[in-house]
Amino acid sequence: DPKSNKPALTLLIAAPRGFCAGVDRAIEIVERALDRYGAPVYVRHEIVHNKFVVDSLRDKGAIFVEELDEVPDGAPVVFSAHGVPKAVPAEADRRGLDYLDATCPLVSKVHRQAERQIAADRHIVFVGHKGHPEVIGTMGQVPEGAMTLVETIADVEALDFAPDAPLAFLTQTTLSVDDTAGIVMALRSKFPQIIGPKAEDICYATSNRQAAVKQIAPGSDLVLVIGAGNSSNSLRLVEVSKKCGTDAKLIRRATDIDPAWLDGVGTLGLTAGASAPEQLVREVVDLISQWREVEEHTLVSTVEKMVFKLPRQLTE
Ligand code: SF4
Repeated sequence: DPKSNKPALTLLIAAPRGFCAGVDRAIEIVERALDRYGAPVYVRHEIVHNKFVVDSLRDKGAIFVEELDEVPDGAPVVFSAHGVPKAVPAEADRRGLDYLDATCPLVSKVHRQAERQIAADRHIVFVGHKGHPEVIGTMGQVPEGAMTLVETIADVEALDFAPDAPLAFLTQTTLSVDDTAGIVMALRSKFPQIIGPKAEDICYATSNRQAAVKQIAPGSDLVLVIGAGNSSNSLRLVEVSKKCGTDAKLIRRATDIDPAWLDGVGTLGLTAGASAPEQLVREVVDLISQWREVEEHTLVSTVEKMVFKLPRQLTE
């Protein structure tokens, strides 16, 4: 037995981890749309940022496209959980397309806040990561030039609005809780009149997964985060672990693990981003169990009970 001459491995699994209510809902929307309309159902952008989710829906008859002009007339189309600029449903309406919006309700909430601030004649400073589809979608809720993106405290320092300019700020849902607190503090100190949400708009799932990593990282020699390279909340989990002083690696699935990473590792932390299926967590545990005797512990930092309603079109 190759395991017999190696020390046992303590595996600390974070909870909560993996799917959030917005991801569950988005996947269910595509599945129900396939049941209701039959294949193919078009999906604009990866429904959630995970290849395994996308592949399994593709096997069931979903066709993933980046833009609406790739959707043929008359075909049903689902918008991804990240949200879309206003121009997208407007174009779908113009073409008479039957569309379902899988935008997470917590992202939609930020969209509505953006509209409200613009209606109140405030310019919006949006804290987010340039190029992420959620950021493109949220910035696309307001007229061009009505929202300014900042990613760092340095970006805040470079803002040159008048000291008493009417301003509001909003944030992306999947940011680092700690980094965002610093950026918001910089905004409030530079523009004391700025209006903002009570807490930032970082969602419960993002905050909970970061808090859960903080519980496993300090006692671990290495943390593995299951998630995609374009998944914002997964990348943040890697950063949070590193800030706790524990090296972390982002893996798409078990086969990405280099066995050499585990040399000298007595305690391994494991978590998964909000778009990563639990099946991938089990796959990692199973693979590692082939190499080492594994003693598995789950550290529960909080229990989530959030569930979001499906769009009316699918429940009627
Ligand atoms: Fe919604 Fe948060 Fe999940 Fe994104 S990570 S889909 S905002 S619950």
